[in-house]
Amino acid sequence: MKKALITGITGQDGAYLAKLLLSKGYEVYGLVRRIVNRSFSNLTYLGVEKNIEYVDGDLTDEASLTHVVRTIKPDEVYHLAAQSFVGTSWDQPIVTSEINAMGTLKLLNAVKNHCPAAKFYHAATSEMFGNSNIDGLQTEDTPFHPRSPYAISKLFAYWMTVNFKESFSMFCVNGILFNHESPIRGLEFVSRKISDGVARIKLGLAKEIKLGNLDSKRDWGFAGDYVEAMWLMMQEPEADNYIISTGQTHSIRDFLDIAFERVGINNWSSYVQIDPRFKRPAELFTLQGKSDKAQAKLNWKPQVNFTQLVQMMVDADLERLKK
Ligand code: GDP
Repeated sequence: MKKALITGITGQDGAYLAKLLLSKGYEVYGLVRRIVNRSFSNLTYLGVEKNIEYVDGDLTDEASLTHVVRTIKPDEVYHLAAQSFVGTSWDQPIVTSEINAMGTLKLLNAVKNHCPAAKFYHAATSEMFGNSNIDGLQTEDTPFHPRSPYAISKLFAYWMTVNFKESFSMFCVNGILFNHESPIRGLEFVSRKISDGVARIKLGLAKEIKLGNLDSKRDWGFAGDYVEAMWLMMQEPEADNYIISTGQTHSIRDFLDIAFERVGINNWSSYVQIDPRFKRPAELFTLQGKSDKAQAKLNWKPQVNFTQLVQMMVDADLERLKK
C-alpha cells in the first residue's frame, strides 16, 4: 500500500486530495499544527475525516518535519500547506515568507535527508506570473513577475523545488495551479465570499456583500478536478512542472451575474457595495492559463465549467445555511 503525506490536509485542496488518494487505496497521513480550535470541517464535509492518520508538525519547525518524514517514510509528499491568502500577505509578509518559502525549504531538506526516494509535489501558483503573459495567456514559459508577498514567497519555493530536483536528483514537481474553488473554499476568497453572501441574501440573513475590485479576471476551475492533476504529475516517469487551468477567464462581475441569477436575482447592483478595504495594493488584472502541456502529457482535462462551478457553490451554501 502506498503512503502519502499531505501538508495542508485541513484546507480545501488537502481534503479533496485526501479523498482522491483514499479512493485509490493510499494510506493517507495529514500533517496538522497544534493550534487552538483546529478544524477538520472540510474533511468532514467530504466524509473522510476518520480515514486519515494525523501527525503533528509545523512548517516552521524543521525538527518536527524531520521526525514525521523519518517515521512515516512516505512514497509521495504533497506539500499544500501555506499562508494561502494573497490579501493577508501584505499585512503579514514575514509570516507568509516563513511558512511558504522557508517552510518549503525545511520540508525539502527533511525529505532529502530522511526519505530521498519520496516524490515531492509543491503547490505553486498562477500568482507567480503577476501581469506577465504571452499573447494574453500564461504558459509554463511565461516570465514570472510576482506582485504580492504571497507570490514572492511561492516563487522562492518554486525554485527551491526545481533546485532540489536538479541538485539531488530528487523527483520534485511544481503544479502551477490557477484559482480553484469549491463549496469548501475559504470564506475570505472572492468566490466563496460571493456564493455565501448570495445565499445569505436569498435567505434574508444579509442585505449586501462588500467587495473590492470587480474588474479583475481569473481563470477559475473546480478544486476536485485540480487535485486529480496533482496525482497525475506524481505518476509520470519524469518530474516536471505543469500549468493547471481551464483556459477560460471571467471577471468578478461575471461571477456575480451567475451567482445572483441562480437565486432568481437579475440585477445585483443594489446588493453589492464597493469597499476599498478589499482592494489590493497591487492587483493582477487577468489570469488565463494554457494547460496544453498537462492535457497532452497527463491526459488531464477540467470537467466542471465556470457556470457549473458557481452554481455548485451557491447551491451548497444555500443548503448549508438552511440547516
Ligand atoms: P487570488 O487570485 O488568489 O487573490 O484570489 P481571491 O479570490 O482572493 O481574489 C480574486 C480577485 O478578486 C482579486 O483580483 C481580488 O482583488 C478580487 N476581489 C474583489 N473583491 C474581493 C474581496 O472582497 N475579497 C477577495 N478575496 N478578493 C476580491
